[in-house]
Amino acid sequence: MESEMDIDPPAETSTAAKVTVKKERPAARKIDPNAKKLEVKKWNAVALWTWDIVVDNCAICKSHVMDLCLECLANQNTEDCTVAWGMCNHAFHFHCISHWLKSHHTCPLDNTQWELQKYGR
Ligand SMILES: [Zn+2]
Ligand SMILES: [Zn+2]
Ligand SMILES: [Zn+2]
Repeated sequence: MESEMDIDPPAETSTAAKVTVKKERPAARKIDPNAKKLEVKKWNAVALWTWDIVVDNCAICKSHVMDLCLECLANQNTEDCTVAWGMCNHAFHFHCISHWLKSHHTCPLDNTQWELQKYGR
């Protein structure tokens, strides 16, 4: 558009002002008694899962993966409770996923083939 040279520069007259201040209908009527009740709640943007390492609660025992798994909590075993990350970047207690994998071969969260990506803390 700017390359076209035959456009007249906007004149500083009242006619130009009329064009620019073209009013549009307000989208919402202000004097609507129901409007206040129909307050639009903003959707809380659900944090998107980042396909990065997810450090979260263990979906199997519901304890945080950086805490002990339920079994170790019960047994007061403060050692050897490590975290296992799958290739899907879900993390579980190694103890929990080990139990799980005795009867399943998939990630409990996304049902993809479980493959151990990382193990440790
Ligand atoms: Zn667990
Ligand atoms: Zn454990
Ligand atoms: Zn997964």
